[in-house]
Amino acid sequence: MKGYIKINKDFCKECHLCISACPKGCIIPTKEYNSHGYHPVATDEGKECTGCTLCAIMCPEIAIEVYRD
Ligand code: SF4
Ligand code: SF4
Repeated sequence: MKGYIKINKDFCKECHLCISACPKGCIIPTKEYNSHGYHPVATDEGKECTGCTLCAIMCPEIAIEVYRD
């Protein structure tokens, strides 16, 4: 199964629970700033998202949407 995620960067509070949750290593930290002064996470396009939804389930800020092809 293939999927992809969309991250609402302004919702992200940099807890990195999604990074720990993703079994495929698809989510990475960044040094950019969002509108609240946090460093939001981003996707690593080189990794293969399965659409498993673990990242979205873990995110306390509901910042991640998961889509499946
Ligand atoms: S849906 Fe699954 S594979 Fe895709 S980024 Fe989230 S945790 Fe990783
Ligand atoms: S779990 Fe949510 S709030 Fe935490 S780093 Fe990931 S996207 Fe940001």
